[in-house]
Amino acid sequence: MSRPYNFSAGPAMLPEAVLQRAQAEMLDWQGTGMCVAEMSHRGKEFMSIAEQAERDLRDLLGVPDGYRVLFLQGGASSQFAMVPMNLAAGAGKADYLNTGSWSKKAIAEAHRYCAVHVAASTQPEGFKRAPTQAELQLSDDAAYLHYTPNETIEGVEFPYVPESRAPLVADMSSTLLSRPVDVSRYGLIYAGAQKNIGPAGLTIVIVREDLLGACHEFTPTMFQYGVHADNGSMYNTPPTYAWYLAGLVFQWLKDLGGLEGMAEINRRKAQRLYAAIDASAFYANPVEPASRSWMNVPFTLADPSLDADFLAGAREAGLLTLKGHRSVGGMRASIYNAMPEAGVDALIAFMAEFERTRG
Ligand SMILES: *Cc1c(COP(=O)(O)O)cnc(C)c1O
Repeated sequence: MSRPYNFSAGPAMLPEAVLQRAQAEMLDWQGTGMCVAEMSHRGKEFMSIAEQAERDLRDLLGVPDGYRVLFLQGGASSQFAMVPMNLAAGAGKADYLNTGSWSKKAIAEAHRYCAVHVAASTQPEGFKRAPTQAELQLSDDAAYLHYTPNETIEGVEFPYVPESRAPLVADMSSTLLSRPVDVSRYGLIYAGAQKNIGPAGLTIVIVREDLLGACHEFTPTMFQYGVHADNGSMYNTPPTYAWYLAGLVFQWLKDLGGLEGMAEINRRKAQRLYAAIDASAFYANPVEPASRSWMNVPFTLADPSLDADFLAGAREAGLLTLKGHRSVGGMRASIYNAMPEAGVDALIAFMAEFERTRG
C-alpha cells in the first residue's frame, strides 16, 4: 500500500517506521502479551516505557539538570491557563508577544488570571513577521515573557530567541523537536504533541524547578505543575499510549542522528518549497522572508477561484489536507519532521503542473 502525503497542521503525519513498530507491538509488547494501552501506568512495564521516553527526550534536547519534564494532558490550550496560574501568582503580571492566532488565544486566557502587558504586536500589519528584539517593550516587573516561536496558522517564525530579564515561556507546539533548542534560555517550554511529537492527547512541559510550586491558591490540583512534578506525571492516569508512541518518535529521531540531522532535513524541505513559491508568479507566501516558518507554509493562488480545483487535484495526486486555516484562507502545507523530503518534492511537482495547465 502506498500512503498519501498528509500536509495536515495537526494531528499530523507520524513517521512510518514508528507506526510499523507500534503495529508490530500492538498485541504483544515485548513478550508481555499485552498492548501498551492495556497496561497499568504504575506497572513495571509501562514505567520502563515512560522512563525511557523521558531519558530519550532529555538526550535529544539536552535538557539541563534543574529542569523537570512533564507528560500531561489538556493540550497547549490548557497551558494557556496553567502558565499564568502557576507562574504569575506573585508578580500578578506577565508580558506577552502578540504574533498570531495562537499567541492571541494565550493572551485572552492569561487575562483571566493576571494583568497582561502586550510587549509587542504585529497584528496591525496582519501577522506577517516576528517583531525584532529592539521592538519589544518589556516590563520591569513581569513574572515571565510568553511568546510563540512558531505561529502555526500564519506560518510566522521567530528567527531568534528573545532576551528578557523575566523567565521566557514558549509555546513550541508546532516546532519542538524540529531542530536543536538551548533549553537553558527558557523558564518553561510547552507543546501539544500532535504536530511534531506524537498523537493528540499528550502535552509536553519542560519547566525550570525554581518556577514550580508558587501557584495561585485557587489553582485546581490537576493544573498545578508542582503536583505533576512531584508525582512523575502520574498523579492521575497519564495518556499512556500517546506517551509510548511519543517515545517511539524520540527513538526514531535518535536513530536519524538527533535534532541536528532533523534540522538539516527540515531546512532543506522549507527552502525548496519557498523557492518554488517565490519563483512562480502564480503562488505567493505573504510572510517576510526572515520570519518564514520551517514547519507551516501558507500560500495563495493568484486566482482564488481555482482553490477548490487545486485541492481536488492535489487529493487525487495523494497530497492531502492542503486547505489553509479558515481564518487565513488559501493553502497551507505543514511539513513537520515526519513529512518525507519526497512528499515536499511531490507537492512542488504538483504545483508546477497545476500552474502550467491551469495558471
Ligand atoms: C495547535 C496549537 C495550539 C493548540 O493546541 P491544542 O493541543 O489543540 O490545545 C496552541 N499553540 C500552537 C502554537 C499550536 O500550533
